[in-house]
Amino acid sequence: MVFNLLEIRFLNVGHGSSAVISFYSGNEAAHGVVDSAWNRAPVPKALTVLQNLGATKLSFVCLTHPHADHYGGLSQILQTFDQKIDQFYTCPMGDLFLNRPRLRKLAVYLKQVLARTDSRSIRQSTQEFLQILRWGDSNSSRWIECAGEENRLAPTGFSPVEILSILPPRFAKGNIISRIESEDPMILGNINENDLSLCLRLTYAGTSIIIGGDATKSNWDFRERFERNSGRDIASQVVNIPHHGSKYDNPQPVLDRLFLKSGDRYGVTSANGQSHPHPETIFAISQMGVDPYCTNLMPPCGANVSKLAPIKGVDPSLARLIRESAEDSGEMQPCQGDILVRVTADGVLTVTPEFDAFCSYRRGASARLTPQS
Ligand SMILES: [Zn+2]
Ligand SMILES: [Zn+2]
Repeated sequence: MVFNLLEIRFLNVGHGSSAVISFYSGNEAAHGVVDSAWNRAPVPKALTVLQNLGATKLSFVCLTHPHADHYGGLSQILQTFDQKIDQFYTCPMGDLFLNRPRLRKLAVYLKQVLARTDSRSIRQSTQEFLQILRWGDSNSSRWIECAGEENRLAPTGFSPVEILSILPPRFAKGNIISRIESEDPMILGNINENDLSLCLRLTYAGTSIIIGGDATKSNWDFRERFERNSGRDIASQVVNIPHHGSKYDNPQPVLDRLFLKSGDRYGVTSANGQSHPHPETIFAISQMGVDPYCTNLMPPCGANVSKLAPIKGVDPSLARLIRESAEDSGEMQPCQGDILVRVTADGVLTVTPEFDAFCSYRRGASARLTPQS
């Protein structure tokens, strides 16, 4: 029998998201990346992980949406693998490479941002995004903008794995086009861009895993009608909780749809523990019997850094971009660190964190504290 295995590594990149996905079939290995974030490292962590895994080509790179905490360092990954990347999946971005005038408009706008700003983090993230567009321009046949409630992705080497993008809804396409066309001064770094975010759902050997991106409550609300009419739910065993575990975007009805009702279930959060995840989200999943796996400690678990101070006199969404794309303060305290999810061909699911720190929100936590006699 051929040995088949799906592996997903949710990486600890501070505030931000990054996952490396691998599928092994016999002696063949296929790899992909969903998002990247800087985390103070000169080399993005996903690239280091891919190199350690021996990847020489990528079946896909996926950018869930154009926020710096998801594309930081992605251009290095694109440059490293360059022609050896089969497909680039992303959210609706205005069919940029089919519409040259629109692409030019966006590029001119981004160059204006570069010329105007003194902020190092805005320069860095804008330049990074320009690099990604440049790669897309020379690889436009591989650039695939995704939308819709059940959009099937078929990266090479992953055929036994069903991979669907389940958000954003199709109408997100029109929204981004009109913003580029009207030269909206907040094309990048606007919190509304989370409404563009892709959300992926992978199913292999009866096990489903959601990679939430920064999916929003309003998009989940819109999708609900599709789920009701089609009878197709999204309940999964492992969920990389959308928007870093935000309380607003993960109200109870959304959490109830994301997770299966029973059995072993894992809620992974990719966040620095400061602005996200929200402790109420972690509390809510633990009440559902879902075990939390947070990359970093949050304040109720002992992280000693409080929320970052607001940046005075700056538009809140811009301030948010600055905070989120700025270099980490170095005060992060890891909880589970990198989290490895494996599914074997016979459907055995294991979740292995880098650090097995005690989690009081897990099932059986109090029993673990009681000394054995
Ligand atoms: Zn984000
Ligand atoms: Zn975002």
